[in-house]
Amino acid sequence: MDTNDVIRLLGEISLVDDRVVKTDKIEQRAQVHMWASALIDVPYEFAGEAVGRHYAESAWPVMPKDITARWRDTIRDRMRRQVGTFEPAHHPEIDPDDPHGNAFVAALRAGNRAVMTGADAPRELPELVGRVGRTVDVAPANEGYLAAKAARYPKRERPAGPPELAVHCPACGSAANRPCQTTMRGRPMTGTHPSRRDVYEAQRGAVA
Ligand SMILES: [Zn+2]
Repeated sequence: MDTNDVIRLLGEISLVDDRVVKTDKIEQRAQVHMWASALIDVPYEFAGEAVGRHYAESAWPVMPKDITARWRDTIRDRMRRQVGTFEPAHHPEIDPDDPHGNAFVAALRAGNRAVMTGADAPRELPELVGRVGRTVDVAPANEGYLAAKAARYPKRERPAGPPELAVHCPACGSAANRPCQTTMRGRPMTGTHPSRRDVYEAQRGAVA
Protein backbone atom coordinates (compact mmCIF):
# COMPACT_ATOMS: atom_id res chain seq x y z
CA MET A 1 0.00 0.00 0.00
CA ASP A 2 1.13 3.56 -0.59
CA THR A 3 0.99 6.76 1.46
CA ASN A 4 -2.57 7.53 0.40
CA ASP A 5 -3.70 4.04 1.46
CA VAL A 6 -2.01 4.55 4.84
CA ILE A 7 -3.78 7.88 5.34
CA ARG A 8 -7.09 6.18 4.43
CA LEU A 9 -6.36 3.27 6.80
CA LEU A 10 -5.37 5.56 9.70
CA GLY A 11 -8.56 7.52 9.07
CA GLU A 12 -10.60 4.33 9.44
CA ILE A 13 -8.65 3.26 12.54
CA SER A 14 -9.27 6.66 14.16
CA LEU A 15 -13.01 5.98 13.93
CA VAL A 16 -12.72 2.88 16.14
CA ASP A 17 -9.70 3.76 18.30
CA ASP A 18 -8.78 7.38 19.03
CA ARG A 19 -5.48 6.37 20.65
CA VAL A 20 -3.67 5.40 17.42
CA VAL A 21 -3.55 8.44 15.17
CA LYS A 22 -1.35 11.33 16.30
CA THR A 23 -3.03 14.69 16.67
CA ASP A 24 0.05 16.87 16.23
CA LYS A 25 0.60 17.71 12.52
CA ILE A 26 4.33 16.96 12.52
CA GLU A 27 3.90 13.74 14.48
CA GLN A 28 1.09 12.73 12.16
CA ARG A 29 3.31 13.17 9.11
CA ALA A 30 6.05 11.09 10.74
CA GLN A 31 3.50 8.44 11.63
CA VAL A 32 2.16 8.23 8.08
CA HIS A 33 5.72 7.95 6.78
CA MET A 34 6.58 5.20 9.26
CA TRP A 35 3.43 3.19 8.58
CA ALA A 36 3.85 3.57 4.83
CA SER A 37 7.39 2.19 4.90
CA ALA A 38 6.39 -0.65 7.24
CA LEU A 39 3.34 -1.64 5.18
CA ILE A 40 4.72 -1.10 1.67
CA ASP A 41 4.27 -4.80 0.75
CA VAL A 42 0.88 -5.23 2.38
CA PRO A 43 -2.23 -4.75 0.20
CA TYR A 44 -4.71 -2.19 1.54
CA GLU A 45 -7.62 -4.66 1.80
CA PHE A 46 -5.47 -7.09 3.75
CA ALA A 47 -4.35 -4.34 6.16
CA GLY A 48 -7.98 -3.34 6.77
CA GLU A 49 -8.93 -6.93 7.59
CA ALA A 50 -5.87 -7.35 9.81
CA VAL A 51 -6.85 -4.26 11.79
CA GLY A 52 -10.34 -5.69 12.27
CA ARG A 53 -8.94 -9.02 13.46
CA HIS A 54 -6.50 -7.22 15.78
CA TYR A 55 -9.33 -5.40 17.56
CA ALA A 56 -11.35 -8.61 17.73
CA GLU A 57 -8.53 -10.15 19.79
CA SER A 58 -6.73 -7.29 21.50
CA ALA A 59 -7.43 -4.23 23.59
CA TRP A 60 -4.14 -2.62 22.61
CA PRO A 61 -3.87 0.12 19.95
CA VAL A 62 -2.95 -1.46 16.63
CA MET A 63 0.67 -1.08 15.46
CA PRO A 64 2.16 -1.72 12.02
CA LYS A 65 3.82 -4.86 13.39
CA ASP A 66 0.39 -6.32 14.18
CA ILE A 67 -0.46 -6.03 10.49
CA THR A 68 2.89 -7.16 9.08
CA ALA A 69 2.96 -10.22 11.38
CA ARG A 70 -0.41 -11.35 10.00
CA TRP A 71 0.77 -10.64 6.47
CA ARG A 72 3.92 -12.74 6.94
CA ASP A 73 1.86 -15.63 8.33
CA THR A 74 -0.45 -15.43 5.34
CA ILE A 75 2.43 -15.42 2.86
CA ARG A 76 4.13 -18.31 4.64
CA ASP A 77 0.91 -20.30 4.52
CA ARG A 78 0.33 -19.52 0.84
CA MET A 79 3.89 -20.37 -0.14
CA ARG A 80 3.78 -23.60 1.85
CA ARG A 81 0.77 -24.68 -0.21
CA GLN A 82 2.18 -23.41 -3.52
CA VAL A 83 4.00 -26.31 -5.18
CA GLY A 84 6.08 -24.12 -7.47
CA THR A 85 4.72 -24.93 -10.88
CA PHE A 86 2.34 -23.43 -13.41
CA GLU A 87 0.11 -24.28 -16.34
CA PRO A 88 2.48 -24.51 -19.34
CA ALA A 89 -0.38 -23.73 -21.74
CA HIS A 90 -0.62 -20.27 -20.17
CA HIS A 91 2.98 -19.56 -21.08
CA PRO A 92 3.45 -19.80 -24.84
CA GLU A 93 6.63 -17.75 -24.46
CA ILE A 94 8.42 -20.80 -23.07
CA ASP A 95 10.54 -22.28 -25.79
CA PRO A 96 9.83 -26.03 -26.09
CA ASP A 97 13.47 -26.47 -27.15
CA ASP A 98 14.65 -24.76 -23.96
CA PRO A 99 11.96 -25.75 -21.43
CA HIS A 100 13.96 -24.63 -18.40
CA GLY A 101 15.36 -21.41 -19.84
CA ASN A 102 14.82 -17.82 -18.79
CA ALA A 103 11.14 -17.81 -19.80
CA PHE A 104 10.51 -20.82 -17.54
CA VAL A 105 12.23 -19.17 -14.58
CA ALA A 106 10.35 -15.93 -15.23
CA ALA A 107 7.01 -17.77 -15.35
CA LEU A 108 7.80 -19.57 -12.12
CA ARG A 109 8.79 -16.33 -10.40
CA ALA A 110 5.72 -14.50 -11.68
CA GLY A 111 3.51 -17.32 -10.42
CA ASN A 112 5.09 -17.28 -6.98
CA ARG A 113 4.88 -13.49 -6.83
CA ALA A 114 1.16 -13.60 -7.72
CA VAL A 115 0.56 -16.13 -4.95
CA MET A 116 2.61 -14.07 -2.51
CA THR A 117 0.65 -10.89 -3.16
CA GLY A 118 -2.64 -12.77 -3.12
CA ALA A 119 -3.40 -12.11 -6.79
CA ASP A 120 -3.56 -15.87 -7.41
CA ALA A 121 -4.57 -18.79 -5.26
CA PRO A 122 -1.74 -21.20 -4.45
CA ARG A 123 -1.39 -24.02 -6.94
CA GLU A 124 -1.68 -27.07 -4.75
CA LEU A 125 -0.69 -30.66 -5.24
CA PRO A 126 -4.23 -32.16 -5.52
CA GLU A 127 -4.85 -29.92 -8.53
CA LEU A 128 -1.86 -31.51 -10.26
CA VAL A 129 -2.36 -35.17 -9.44
CA GLY A 130 -6.13 -35.24 -9.76
CA ARG A 131 -8.40 -37.23 -7.54
CA VAL A 132 -6.85 -40.11 -5.69
CA GLY A 133 -8.17 -43.41 -6.99
CA ARG A 134 -8.64 -42.23 -10.55
CA THR A 135 -7.79 -45.05 -12.94
CA VAL A 136 -4.64 -44.48 -14.92
CA ASP A 137 -4.63 -45.30 -18.59
CA VAL A 138 -1.70 -47.70 -19.03
CA ALA A 139 -2.58 -48.97 -22.49
CA PRO A 140 0.46 -48.95 -24.79
CA ALA A 141 0.44 -46.00 -27.16
CA ASN A 142 -0.40 -47.34 -30.60
CA GLU A 143 -0.92 -45.25 -33.74
CA GLY A 144 -4.70 -45.06 -33.32
CA TYR A 145 -4.38 -43.97 -29.70
CA LEU A 146 -1.85 -41.28 -30.56
CA ALA A 147 -4.01 -39.97 -33.42
CA ALA A 148 -7.08 -39.85 -31.18
CA LYS A 149 -5.11 -38.09 -28.47
CA ALA A 150 -3.72 -35.55 -30.96
CA ALA A 151 -7.25 -34.84 -32.20
CA ARG A 152 -8.56 -34.40 -28.68
CA TYR A 153 -5.65 -32.36 -27.34
CA PRO A 154 -4.28 -30.43 -30.30
CA LYS A 155 -0.80 -29.03 -29.79
CA ARG A 156 -0.77 -25.27 -29.35
CA GLU A 157 0.28 -23.50 -32.46
CA ARG A 158 2.87 -20.83 -32.01
CA PRO A 159 1.15 -17.44 -32.29
CA ALA A 160 1.37 -16.26 -35.86
CA GLY A 161 3.31 -13.06 -36.35
CA PRO A 162 6.05 -11.49 -38.34
CA PRO A 163 9.03 -13.86 -38.76
CA GLU A 164 11.42 -11.40 -37.08
CA LEU A 165 9.70 -12.24 -33.76
CA ALA A 166 12.08 -15.23 -33.75
CA VAL A 167 14.96 -12.93 -32.77
CA HIS A 168 15.32 -10.47 -29.91
CA CYS A 169 14.73 -6.79 -30.61
CA PRO A 170 17.73 -4.47 -30.19
CA ALA A 171 15.44 -1.41 -30.19
CA CYS A 172 13.10 -2.20 -27.30
CA GLY A 173 14.92 -5.18 -25.78
CA SER A 174 12.01 -7.64 -26.24
CA ALA A 175 13.13 -11.26 -26.08
CA ALA A 176 12.62 -13.70 -28.94
CA ASN A 177 8.97 -14.66 -29.43
CA ARG A 178 7.80 -11.62 -27.47
CA PRO A 179 6.14 -8.67 -29.23
CA CYS A 180 7.98 -5.40 -29.57
CA GLN A 181 7.08 -2.73 -27.03
CA THR A 182 6.83 1.00 -27.39
CA THR A 183 10.06 2.40 -25.99
CA MET A 184 8.39 5.24 -24.10
CA ARG A 185 5.57 3.40 -22.32
CA GLY A 186 6.41 -0.27 -22.79
CA ARG A 187 3.08 -1.05 -24.49
CA PRO A 188 3.02 -4.13 -26.75
CA MET A 189 3.17 -3.20 -30.45
CA THR A 190 1.40 -5.02 -33.28
CA GLY A 191 4.34 -4.34 -35.59
CA THR A 192 8.06 -4.65 -34.96
CA HIS A 193 10.98 -2.25 -34.85
CA PRO A 194 12.94 -1.94 -38.12
CA SER A 195 16.21 -2.90 -36.41
CA ARG A 196 14.61 -6.19 -35.33
CA ARG A 197 13.84 -6.96 -38.95
CA ASP A 198 17.48 -6.09 -39.75
CA VAL A 199 18.72 -8.54 -37.10
CA TYR A 200 16.40 -11.22 -38.44
CA GLU A 201 17.50 -10.65 -42.04
CA ALA A 202 21.16 -10.67 -40.99
CA GLN A 203 20.75 -13.98 -39.12
CA ARG A 204 18.89 -15.51 -42.01
CA GLY A 205 21.62 -14.31 -44.35
CA ALA A 206 24.25 -15.85 -42.12
CA VAL A 207 22.44 -19.21 -42.13
CA ALA A 208 21.68 -19.23 -45.85
ZN1 LIG B 1 11.29 -3.81 -30.66
